[in-house]
Amino acid sequence: MQINVAQLLKEGTGATRSHDIDAVLRLEGTSAPAGGAAPVSAPALAGGQECRVQGRVTLTRAARGILLAGSFSCPVRLTCGRCLASFPHLVGFDVQEMFYPSIDIATGLPLALPEEDDSSSFTIDEHHLLDTSEMIRQYCLLAIPMKPLCRADCGGLCPDCGANLNEKHCGCAPVPRTALARALEQAIAVKQSPAPETAAAPDRAPRTRAAPEQAGAPERKTAPARARVPGRTKSRRKLG
Ligand SMILES: [Zn+2]
Ligand SMILES: [Zn+2]
Repeated sequence: MQINVAQLLKEGTGATRSHDIDAVLRLEGTSAPAGGAAPVSAPALAGGQECRVQGRVTLTRAARGILLAGSFSCPVRLTCGRCLASFPHLVGFDVQEMFYPSIDIATGLPLALPEEDDSSSFTIDEHHLLDTSEMIRQYCLLAIPMKPLCRADCGGLCPDCGANLNEKHCGCAPVPRTALARALEQAIAVKQSPAPETAAAPDRAPRTRAAPEQAGAPERKTAPARARVPGRTKSRRKLG
C-alpha cells in the first residue's frame, strides 16, 4: 500500500500522520528484497498465499526522512512442524522503519541515502509515495514461527507407518525406550569396531553358537536388522 507523504515532508520535524492499512499481499516462503539485501524466509508458510494485512501506522517527520511505526495482523496458513497438516494462524507484528526520500521535496534534486544505511533501506519514490508493501512482507515473514504446531498436544506422525496420530491410532507397537537405547549402543559399537560380525556376536548369542556362524550368512542378516531400530529413533526425533 502506498501513502503520499509530500505534505508531511514539507512540515517540520516531529509532525505526524496516522493511516489505516488494509491490503492484500502475496506472501511466498521466501522474500528476496530488491537491492541485493539478504532474503527473508519462513519455511512453515504453506505455499504462496494471498493474505489480508490490516493495521495502523503513524508516520513522523524526522530530520532525514519519515519514521514509520505501527502494528499489523495477518491471517496465514502454516504447515505443522509435527504432523505436516496445514492450519490457520494469525500473525501479529510491530514495525518500526525509517523511510528516506529519494528527491528533495523543496528543490526536486536527487538525494543520496545516508551512508550508514545499506541497500536494504526503504525509500520514498520520486513522486513522494511511501510504499509499505515490501516492509510488511518482510516483517510478516519474520514473525512466522520456525516450527509451528497445529495444536500444543499435536501427536505428529507415526514413525513406522506415517499415519497422522491426531486422526487415528494406527496400532503400530510403540518401541520401548530402553530397548532402543540398548540397540543404539550396540549399533555404535558395531560401527566403531573394525570387525563388526565378531564384535557384536558376544552380546547377542553365546560364543559356542556364534563361532560357527562368524563368516556365514545368518550373521550378516542380523546386522542390518539391528541397524534399522536406531533408524526409527532418528525419524521419531525429527518429527517430534
Ligand atoms: Zn500437527
Ligand atoms: Zn503406525
